[in-house]
Amino acid sequence: MSLVVQKFGGTSVADPERLRAVADHVARTRRRGDQVVVVVSAMGKETDELIHLAGQVSTTLPGREMDMLLSAGERKAMALLCMALHDLGIPADSFTGSQAGIITDTFHTRARILEVKGDRLRQCLAAGKVPVVAGFQGVSTDNDVTTLGRGGSDTTAVALAAALGADACEKYSDVPGVFTADPRVVPDARRLAQVSFEEMLEITATGSGVVAFRAVEFARNHGVPIHVRSSFSWEPGTWVREEDPAMEQPVISAVTHDTSEAKITVTRVPDKPGIAARLFRSLADENVNLDMIVQNVSQDGTTDISFTVPKTDLPAAVNVCQDHAGEISAAAVLTDDTIAKVSVVGAGMKTHPGVSATVFETLAEHGINIEMISTSPIRITCVVAAAQVEEAVLALHGAFELGD
Ligand code: ASP
Ligand code: MG
Repeated sequence: MSLVVQKFGGTSVADPERLRAVADHVARTRRRGDQVVVVVSAMGKETDELIHLAGQVSTTLPGREMDMLLSAGERKAMALLCMALHDLGIPADSFTGSQAGIITDTFHTRARILEVKGDRLRQCLAAGKVPVVAGFQGVSTDNDVTTLGRGGSDTTAVALAAALGADACEKYSDVPGVFTADPRVVPDARRLAQVSFEEMLEITATGSGVVAFRAVEFARNHGVPIHVRSSFSWEPGTWVREEDPAMEQPVISAVTHDTSEAKITVTRVPDKPGIAARLFRSLADENVNLDMIVQNVSQDGTTDISFTVPKTDLPAAVNVCQDHAGEISAAAVLTDDTIAKVSVVGAGMKTHPGVSATVFETLAEHGINIEMISTSPIRITCVVAAAQVEEAVLALHGAFELGD
């Protein structure tokens, strides 16, 4: 008998019919002889709707009250799912994050989990029942309700799986797995049977939203295997787990892309210690999220610094750069919000030379100019014009023969 945590996203519990389908799946899992802990997201787009509602009565959106409001979405879903389970003769009890013993820090709307107690869930399992837990929420060390940031139900599920010693965390949504590229862009993209935690972190960081980044991090740190699969087909999906040292790793597992960022270039700053430090401290103080940073070699004592930020952070970032342009003697602050990132990710890259050459040649053959490059041991990312990114993804997917 194994213990699985089954997490169902918003689309999987969007309406009464979907809720009953989920209850049916949980019942089948139990009939197979396994123990189940369920984690649910809010139904459909409910979290967005609650945020919109809050915006209609408040401009300040106090964090404590936002958490109280948003946590209601998951509460509703868990109670309804339990009712559907009862109707199938499956004993099930719902638990808020607080009741499940998910203890967080005090940062409202983006709290971090400090500890998972889980005592009541263990008792519930021992009594032969199915605990159904509200995702995305916890209780702070100050005893207030908190939420974990958007997509936080994935983190709840992985954290519970780790705390309860579950054999796996099954993540159900309308996405049937992790693909070699976005199937909307690449028609012959393949579902991967398996990816390593390291690859999944890179795939998630560079464009795939299939599992929340923090959940993948948590799973890697605690060795929780995640099975990413669809609640619409119930077919096997993609296993995210420790790489098998006995198996040869694919050179490239996936090509990802991301159009959510913009580029800023601060030109002709003096090439001397302290310039980048001053600029990036000020950006950090404004909570600007930075991604790629490139500084050119200087020819004449000055250099250009380019970096990318989420488009949503662009106005704040530009303000900071313009405010500091004089102080750091920059010639100009240039922006470009028509860029995109394309990345190739693969654990086998570590031991296979020539991957970057293939990437650059492929882009060159398609007349795609590379504006910035960054790498990790298992990833190569290029910034290209947004208008050419889909062509870049298709070309790279073909060049590495990732298709069916
Ligand atoms: N309902 C929350 C959100 O939409 C949490 C989640 O779905 O994971 O962000
Ligand atoms: Mg959601």
